Amino acid sequence: MKQIVVLGAGYAGLKAVRSLQKKEGDFHITLVDHNDYHYEATELHEVASGTQPKTKISYPIRDVLDTKRVTFIQDSVVKINPESQSVELKNHATLQYDYAVVSLGFCSETFGIKGAKENALEMVDVPSSEKIYQHIMEMMKKYRETQDEKYLQILICGAGFTGIELAGALVDGRKDYAKAAGVSEDKIKISCVEAATRVLPMFDEKLADYGVELIKKLGVNLMTGCMIKEIKPGEVLYTKGKDDPEVNTVAAATIIWTTGVSGSQVIGESGFEQRRGRVMVNADLTAPEYPNVYIIGDVSAVMDPTSNRPYPTTAQIATRMGLHAAKNLYNQLHSKPTEAFTFHSLGTVASIGNTHALGLVGKTQVKGYPASVVKKSIMNKSLLDIGGLKELLSKGRFDLYH
Ligand code: NAD
Repeated sequence: MKQIVVLGAGYAGLKAVRSLQKKEGDFHITLVDHNDYHYEATELHEVASGTQPKTKISYPIRDVLDTKRVTFIQDSVVKINPESQSVELKNHATLQYDYAVVSLGFCSETFGIKGAKENALEMVDVPSSEKIYQHIMEMMKKYRETQDEKYLQILICGAGFTGIELAGALVDGRKDYAKAAGVSEDKIKISCVEAATRVLPMFDEKLADYGVELIKKLGVNLMTGCMIKEIKPGEVLYTKGKDDPEVNTVAAATIIWTTGVSGSQVIGESGFEQRRGRVMVNADLTAPEYPNVYIIGDVSAVMDPTSNRPYPTTAQIATRMGLHAAKNLYNQLHSKPTEAFTFHSLGTVASIGNTHALGLVGKTQVKGYPASVVKKSIMNKSLLDIGGLKELLSKGRFDLYH
């Protein structure tokens, strides 16, 4: 019997397993993840802001597995040895495989900025997102004790999609923070420090401007053209533009780091040729030199022939890669040729709180409340696609029409 290991139960890995477990054949799957739950990584900002509990964005992995076809091991992957076709785990015996699907996801990227790791909170998984909410509430308590306004300041580093979506969710959470601090809502200050002079660059100027105006109207202080140089405890140091010698500071008791992501460090430690934890894979999603190793999701880089740059790492592409890797692997098991991965984005929508959003669906621009309905249906689709009907019914967002 052929042994398949799938490393990581995020969008890519879990989709691959769910697809493979439905197929007939003489193979067994072993899925490894350090959590016993799958979570919607695109919704972490809701847990970080306290607008949703973690149970609303996660479900037990075992609930969606066919346990006759799949063995689940809760453990951390330490290293993949593609030459000996084995995977070293932290607490379990080494696994041998015939085929591997590597889908280990992302981690926070600090770009070597001093103090970022020590003095800013990252938002990369459920525990780190819960920690952000706990921290905010602690700071509100400290304000009550000291009346020092720095405790009411929340600062986001980086205004990419993650930073923007987090800012929107924090606006929704502001009422609760204000109540905890015993102040009016307008006293809670949310800022976003961004190096680029233009945010949401993937959208045309008009749509991006709409997003910027909306964020500002909701009371977020968007500081564009500000390059972060260092994070000190309770303080962000930045310059206006890249080479300006003058260093400015902004104080905030809560500093959250959302300035970009890398693929899992396990990729580099396993000796794959990579850049920022991403492997430039073959057209069929296998690793260069290892036709029995698929590398998918945020640890993978696939060239977009239109832009001549790797596709951005999104949940949508990760899910599609999971499905495609499962299909190719199944072909290999039956001595059939693999197929090249193709991707046509269905669009991109960024939420700004629960009732606003903006983005593209196909080539059509969506904004405002209708866009937030689209965004919720994207999450519902993901729940159905990867988890199935049970997960959709228990975690889905159906508060669409009021
Ligand atoms: P990102 O790299 O897209 O954005 C990081 C931002 O931080 C950039 O705007 C960058 O200019 C800024 N930055 C970097 N260094 C800085 C510094 N020193 N000082 C100030 N600003 C700095 O990262 P992300 O937002 O985490 O997104 C990662 C990927 O996930 C992207 O491909 C994104 O499209 C995707 N994503 C998609 C969605 C969605 O579809 N709704 C949501 C979140 C993320």
